[in-house]
Amino acid sequence: MQLRIPGPTPIPDEILQAMTTQMINHRGPQFAEMIHKATDILKTMFQTKGDVFLLTCSGTGGMEASVVNTLSPGDKVLVVANGAFGDRFAAIAEIFGAQVERLSFEWGTAVDPQEVRRALSQDASIKAVLVTHNETSTGVTNDLEAISAVVREYEKLLIVDAISSLGCIDLPTDEWGCDVVITGSQKGWMAPPGLAMVSVSERAWQAQAQAKMPKYYWDFAKAKSFLEKGQTPWTPAVSTVYALDTALELFQREGLKNIVARHARVGAKARAEVKSLGLSLFPDDSCASNTVTAVQVPEGLDSKKLLKILREEYDTVLAGGQQRLDGKIFRIGHLGYVTEKDIDAVIEALKAALPQAGFSV
Ligand SMILES: *Cc1c(COP(=O)(O)O)cnc(C)c1O
Repeated sequence: MQLRIPGPTPIPDEILQAMTTQMINHRGPQFAEMIHKATDILKTMFQTKGDVFLLTCSGTGGMEASVVNTLSPGDKVLVVANGAFGDRFAAIAEIFGAQVERLSFEWGTAVDPQEVRRALSQDASIKAVLVTHNETSTGVTNDLEAISAVVREYEKLLIVDAISSLGCIDLPTDEWGCDVVITGSQKGWMAPPGLAMVSVSERAWQAQAQAKMPKYYWDFAKAKSFLEKGQTPWTPAVSTVYALDTALELFQREGLKNIVARHARVGAKARAEVKSLGLSLFPDDSCASNTVTAVQVPEGLDSKKLLKILREEYDTVLAGGQQRLDGKIFRIGHLGYVTEKDIDAVIEALKAALPQAGFSV
């Protein structure tokens, strides 16, 4: 089966095999060695000298952890949102009592860093900026370099949802001054769901010391003190750690630069091929993501039928649109274990299935 959704993603056999390893004591020396090694490689992939933790949860758990560890109820935060995941960040901050100011952009467009500057210049009481690097719901990659430069200028805390970008799209955490960066094992990491990985900067630790939002499971201070012993505070998803550990060896072998370049090639190919079928991208080319391609559903095409035909007759699974984009777009995931050949296969399937769903190629 060709699983081409933006997570979970297909996994190389070597990594699947690693998951069948027998359980070990998660408070023993073998686990300690594994988590230290994984954490060290992750730091090079996050491009940070700060702390990196493995949390047993999906990406959303990492988002919640980033909020409750850095903020107090009543804190004012600017949530910069251009899709469903930006909205989710706002919802999480709000539910824990932050005073959320939304800076929203039309879905399918990118965040305008100048608007971030305007918002920050108008309200000195904003403490933190929450932003999505790669908005998976719309296939847009935001210009995080420019956004982070503005946030640094105003000396705010910067919390980044990089769940579907990190390990695929360049994100130099320290160089750009990102304070908490979140990703998830089932996105670009060639691993199954089960772990969120988060980086924590010095500035984030200072915020952590003051933060009063309730937390128990998510407490970064506990994560830090346990990691010093080669452990996690709570029982981790051991099998997913086996997989991630093996995946990170492959990451190290290929090298971050090459991985980023491969995603750029694959993304460019996906966009070109989609257009060659006579379809249009949902976002503008200038901000289109290298990990997920969102395709506009043209007049006459029944996208639900298309996805069903692809699944049942061509063994190809693509993603639909989320929320207000349901039926308006469909998405091709190309992150993690992916090459140009996989795009060829998706395009072949689309070529055959599109006419059956009402669109002549
Ligand atoms: C997938 C994703 C999430 C949510 O992750 P879960 O693992 O489903 O909790 C959040 N943000 C972005 C940008 C994502 O792509």
